[in-house]
Amino acid sequence: MTLAEEIREKLNTGSTDIVRAVIYARVSTDNEGQKESCANQVSLAEKYIAEHPNVQLIATYIDDGISGKNDFTRPQYNEMLQRLSDDGFDLILTKALSRLNRDELNSLMLNSMLLEHNATVLTLEDRHVHDFEDMNSGLLHSIKYAIDAQYVKQQSLNGRKTQELRIERKELSAKDCSFGYDWHREDKSITINLEQAEIVRRIFEEYVYRNGTPASIERALNDEGINICSRSVSNIIKDERYIGKFYINKRTTKLGTGRTKSKRIELPKEQWVLCERPNLQIVDTELFELAQRIHHSRITVYEKPDKKTIQAHFQGMHLFASKIFCPVCGKPYRHDFSDRKKTISVYRISNHRDCPNKISRIYEADLEEMTRITLKQVVTEQSNVLSSVEKTLIECVEVSQNNGDEVSNLKKQRSAKEKKKESLFGVLMNGALSDKVKDEAVAKLNTLSDEIDNLTAIIEDKESNKLSFSYVTDKISEIKTAISELKNFSTMDRDRILNYIDRIDLPPNGDVDITLKSGQIITFKQQQRNDFSDEESVGKKGIQDVLYWLPAESQKQLRHGTRQQ
Ligand SMILES: [Zn+2]
Repeated sequence: MTLAEEIREKLNTGSTDIVRAVIYARVSTDNEGQKESCANQVSLAEKYIAEHPNVQLIATYIDDGISGKNDFTRPQYNEMLQRLSDDGFDLILTKALSRLNRDELNSLMLNSMLLEHNATVLTLEDRHVHDFEDMNSGLLHSIKYAIDAQYVKQQSLNGRKTQELRIERKELSAKDCSFGYDWHREDKSITINLEQAEIVRRIFEEYVYRNGTPASIERALNDEGINICSRSVSNIIKDERYIGKFYINKRTTKLGTGRTKSKRIELPKEQWVLCERPNLQIVDTELFELAQRIHHSRITVYEKPDKKTIQAHFQGMHLFASKIFCPVCGKPYRHDFSDRKKTISVYRISNHRDCPNKISRIYEADLEEMTRITLKQVVTEQSNVLSSVEKTLIECVEVSQNNGDEVSNLKKQRSAKEKKKESLFGVLMNGALSDKVKDEAVAKLNTLSDEIDNLTAIIEDKESNKLSFSYVTDKISEIKTAISELKNFSTMDRDRILNYIDRIDLPPNGDVDITLKSGQIITFKQQQRNDFSDEESVGKKGIQDVLYWLPAESQKQLRHGTRQQ
């Protein structure tokens, strides 16, 4: 019986023979996360001892915070070996062999010392008593130790091997799981988390259909008690997983050697491997692409502000944010205050020296009044248009009513055919007919029936398409209500501006051009120089306010920013 077999028997058969044991634990400084695992290693050993009353604990050796790679600085380890050669003991309790040594030479030395002093090792992770006398197992251990010597390397090799396999098989792992999905450890699968998927879908819809921004979406969701930050929202918007496109091999580990830590590094997109999972698609592809386009246009607005045509979809906090542009260079005007107390809103353009357009700012209150005038004008025009719309609608109804004549005509045709059919029936019932005539009569009867069915279908169709005059009055009153609501608006809010104003241009001549969503352009003409009383704020060496005409009464109230209440 080998020593290991002897000890196994003592430990596992409830024997009362004493086994003299020491505990050895070690954590390395390399890994902060391992700090607490030192206590874990010891408590693991203590648990084992508590379960085996015949194990007598002689000493506990802990090398705290010292890397296993450098054995010269493991005082407790050396002390343990000293004790082994001085007094001897039967067993070292340790979590794993890698806790003892990661170096082949050291492990061979330990191996021979253990043999010499009749001791062995019990690894707590598998509760295995190692047999160093068994040549095979000895060989195994030396191989194990040799591998352990390159512990770090091996780990990363394993990692890389599994990574390669995953790429080959296009397998997803827990790391590929994100918000909206669940990872199932048992069968290593990913499924859609219905509740979270609903939120993902909402984020896309808010972003695309309601002009949401990550910040506004964050606020809206937080109000409902869903905690998601704007950063996550903007990541979700870009994440192709939601259309079932998962990418693996996005990162790799750069191996740390010696004292340097291993690093995760990002791989270029060419090296990513696409795993298509159509069953994991949460967001409609079309919606996703719309979101990408919006996202892209938003970046372009800020990255390349020199393009004339681009229109920011960005929904700012300020009334006219992202709506005002210099038509010469295409740069946007941004919200600012013209006074120290920050009560007077203006829109300014910055870094504009190189542009021949010297218009530098416009007051928000003035713009507000201009917009109000514009919208009122449009509404008035609309009510003029309304009467002609009404006329057209009535014409439509009349045309559909005229169908009535056509229908009664068709009905006459139908009853004529029905009469014919009846008389044919009479003839057939008479019986005194040759087979040939009979056949002809039956054929004719069939055609007549078909014709009657057709006519019936046409009549039904025509009758259902008939418009009534109440349709016109209903429609007209709907439109009238909408227009009167528009006419009576008092506050100029951001929604109204987003709904009606496409863009506002401030050309060098001092005009203000307001382009409506309908395509109409309304120009506020430059104010006459001699009408302009406030000399101070104009003509400061090429830097100018916009000069424009406003109705006299609103000018008095509005000039320089006092907002109408
Ligand atoms: Zn410009």
